[in-house]
Amino acid sequence: MQTCLELAESGRVDVLRAGIWKPRTNPGCFEGIGIKGLAWMANAKKATGLPIAVEVATGKHVESALEFGVDLLWIGARTTVNPFSVQDVAEALRGSDIPVLVKNPMHADLALWAGAVQRLQAVGVKQLGLIHRGFSSFGESRYRNAPMWHLVLEMRRKMPELPIICDPSHICGNRHLLQSVAQEAADLNFDGLMLESHCCPSQAWSDAAQQLTPKDLIELIDAINWRKVSADKPDFQEKLEAMRSQIDQYDAELLAILSKRMDITEQIGVIKRDNDVTILQASRWDEIVQRILDNSEQLQLSREFLHILMNAIHMESISRQNKVMNLR
Ligand code: PEP
Ligand code: MN
Repeated sequence: MQTCLELAESGRVDVLRAGIWKPRTNPGCFEGIGIKGLAWMANAKKATGLPIAVEVATGKHVESALEFGVDLLWIGARTTVNPFSVQDVAEALRGSDIPVLVKNPMHADLALWAGAVQRLQAVGVKQLGLIHRGFSSFGESRYRNAPMWHLVLEMRRKMPELPIICDPSHICGNRHLLQSVAQEAADLNFDGLMLESHCCPSQAWSDAAQQLTPKDLIELIDAINWRKVSADKPDFQEKLEAMRSQIDQYDAELLAILSKRMDITEQIGVIKRDNDVTILQASRWDEIVQRILDNSEQLQLSREFLHILMNAIHMESISRQNKVMNLR
């Protein structure tokens, strides 16, 4: 309640979110306060005048949330992955007009995300939106869930009518990266943000490392620069168009060069085939990657980007060589 009151007082928050049913990776972790939390949320709504939002994972959750006057629902990442659960939630929503936001599934599968949206559309949910919370990946990473912005932009292209908000808390997993992820979302024209807040972060029963005090949350929000989508000034338009045509030209050149590179790859495939040599020559590839990464500073291209780029090129090369290998 203290957190809610402080947030409401700032006038900078539109909706209060609280997960009362929390799907946790390990049993024995705090799994949410459960249904009694709905009455607490209803009190927070009354005290602050702000609408309240809760995560639902089953039809039963939806029924209880509607009973207590919850104003907005969201489907969590662990639920979006499961069509049975999404369908169960959808059935319980039939005939209600509550807005529903769908988080991306844990893994980078846009069809599954779109499928969840379609299940809700099919039962007549009209006010729908998306939440980007990043994608789970194996191994060490800067983020708890990698943002993979390009996938989200692709999802937006598929479903342009849906508003989309970003959840930097679950992307970052710690409070230090929140500001930069929130700004990136603003720069990509997201429609809003969902951020976790706790009046005493170290005492939070889940995700303590990513909680912000209400004061820090407001500071973060105020520091975001929500730029305009476009500017009407002719000077701006002219410059933009000139630079865009340069980009188009470079893209065409890049692709033409890549295409030539792949031709050579194929020719190498032919001589490897004729001499019964394997496609993969790990040391040669390590050498190439190392040489390129060593140049990252000079090229002003991040090592992360160069890694992804070179991996993509390598995969395409292997598949091209695979084709010729088996052509004899
Ligand atoms: C949450 O929003 O608190 C949550 C558990 O997030 P996600 O479904 O993105 O893991
Ligand atoms: Mn959380």
